[in-house]
Amino acid sequence: MMDSIQQAAETLSKSRHSAAITGAGISAESGIPPFRGPGGVWERYDPEEYATIDALITTPEKAWIFLKELGEVVAKSQPNDGHTALAEMEEIGKLSSIITQNIDGLHQMAGSKKVIEFHGNYKSMICTSCQKSIESHKVSLEVIPPRCECEGILKPDVVLFGEPIPPETIRDAFQEASLCETLLVIGTSAVVMPASQIPLLAKQNGATIIEINKERTILTSSITDIFLEGSSSTILPQIINLLKQ
Ligand code: NAD
Ligand code: ZN
Repeated sequence: MMDSIQQAAETLSKSRHSAAITGAGISAESGIPPFRGPGGVWERYDPEEYATIDALITTPEKAWIFLKELGEVVAKSQPNDGHTALAEMEEIGKLSSIITQNIDGLHQMAGSKKVIEFHGNYKSMICTSCQKSIESHKVSLEVIPPRCECEGILKPDVVLFGEPIPPETIRDAFQEASLCETLLVIGTSAVVMPASQIPLLAKQNGATIIEINKERTILTSSITDIFLEGSSSTILPQIINLLKQ
């Protein structure tokens, strides 16, 4: 294991352009459980049933049961050592950008500057009637669904199931994927489209794929070059320590 961490650090250190794609796994130890696997909210509410744009429009009081719990969990969370290590990697010039599927804002809170939020974020909400934007912390969730002054239903700026990813976000993420010489794939099961195409695109363009996950994924035996099995909050700090030496 130590050898492959060393190998990963050497690869990153030689690489002229490196990027990372992160998923729910990197935030698991910040108290935000992934949708799949054990823990909290998502065992009681299937996000693919509650967190869809159709549910928000047709049964907002139901969709908001899930969205409220998500918002409360995110509001309480703090970055962990994995987020911090990635921010340091950017600071020393060894990471160009992070493409994240997470909506928790923890990369930015840890200090990362170039973050492409593939699935949006929970920082703000938009009125589904008049399109007015409002910061999430200003919205009371005592009564759900929360409403705008115009009585329209509010929606957090996250990409719900059934909603498209904004084209400029796809463009930026795909550009990073095709440019990078090394791609870190961290805490993602790589099954949610179209984010799951990013590792493939990077590989097709010649990138070395370094995967960090607690478990093997669909990528591990197909396109991964270096697999680091374990928690991102313990592995990433070891990599940054080697890079700083
Ligand atoms: P995912 O693809 O993000 O899967 C989570 C992956 O993380 C799994 O492969 C798991 O083995 C791995 N993992 C768990 N703990 C880990 C750790 N400590 N270190 C390293 N790897 C770890 O799938 P999902 O969770 O079902 O999410 C689906 C979608 O919803 C994605 O877009 C996801 O990012 C988003 N989501 C976001 C948040 C958040 O913002 N924090 C939370 C839940 C889901
Ligand atoms: Zn409104």
